[in-house]
Amino acid sequence: MRVAVVNAGSSSLKVKLYNMTQDKLLESYLVEYIAQEGGVATHKEALESLEIDFESIDMIGHRVVHGGEYFHSSVEIDDEVVKKIEGLNPLAPLHNPANLEGIKLTREKAPNIKQIAVFDTAFHTTMPEEAYLYALDYKFYEEHHIRRYGFHGISHSYLLEQSAKILKKEQEELNIITLHLGNGASICAIERGKSIDTSMGFTPLEGLVMGTRSGDIDPAIVFYMQRELGYSVDEVDKELNKHSGLLGLAKSNDLREILSKNTPESRLALEMMLRRIKKYIGAYIALLGDVDAIVLSGGIGENSKILQERVKNFSIVKGKKVLVIKTDEELQIAKECLRLKEQSVS
Ligand code: AMP
Repeated sequence: MRVAVVNAGSSSLKVKLYNMTQDKLLESYLVEYIAQEGGVATHKEALESLEIDFESIDMIGHRVVHGGEYFHSSVEIDDEVVKKIEGLNPLAPLHNPANLEGIKLTREKAPNIKQIAVFDTAFHTTMPEEAYLYALDYKFYEEHHIRRYGFHGISHSYLLEQSAKILKKEQEELNIITLHLGNGASICAIERGKSIDTSMGFTPLEGLVMGTRSGDIDPAIVFYMQRELGYSVDEVDKELNKHSGLLGLAKSNDLREILSKNTPESRLALEMMLRRIKKYIGAYIALLGDVDAIVLSGGIGENSKILQERVKNFSIVKGKKVLVIKTDEELQIAKECLRLKEQSVS
């Protein structure tokens, strides 16, 4: 069975082709700088340039960042699903419109091929109310859907599956803490195979210190920046999402570069990132009780020996199993396609 996985981001298009009968990656394509200087103008042009014959493929899986409260697992895409994803655009203005563009283009190219949407939020829909609600007037949840959604769910669910294989246990038996530490970063508390809390929230801005995002801050800083410093809403948004985190602290969002600089600023940035990780691991151990493993992943988690050693040596982690697992979000999407196909057959 041949599966194409499409990951249409705001300025990039990734496509991977798999032979899922053999779990094998056949081809990998990437177009960057879409609608930016030096790049093609549209996702359509980007897709055309790849010259993929989508009609010859058995299923197409799409990454969709925000599934809101509608989508608890992957679904086959039809007009109704497209409408619902469109309705979620205000919750993920940078991501969902691009994801939808990918869906629309491949539906035009291959109208008879089954297409699946796999959501980054779906894995976290098992969180209990006390985890996903913010302590705001309840009307903000009821009328405006303001709540914690959580992201990176495709990666966290892949890490859960792989951990179960490595630890030779059923997913439903596992209590683990998974850390996806890339340019964007999040941590997830998994209790008996289900997400019960995660650090990203209403948007991917909350939680850990990331490449360019601040993670947790006192929300009153936002009022102060506007009232006292004269920043507009959009400017504050840009500051917190694009100019903060490692970049704001140490002038680079690339941990490799930061580690090689070894300046007071770069050392401080690393310590702040690690301290936040330690606080979250501690909090999630408090929620889960005993944990079977702590799982490190993402560009930083997979590759940085310094980070791996430091996490292993946190007093709260010492003696616990720490696994380093290379995440593979596209393979997980391809697996979801296979799972849905098998479900429709049985
Ligand atoms: P990702 O978004 O998952 O591609 O992760 C990107 C981040 O991983 C960047 O901050 C990179 O600097 C970091 N990274 C990749 N390789 C290494 C490495 N060998 N040591 C430290 N950080 C790394």
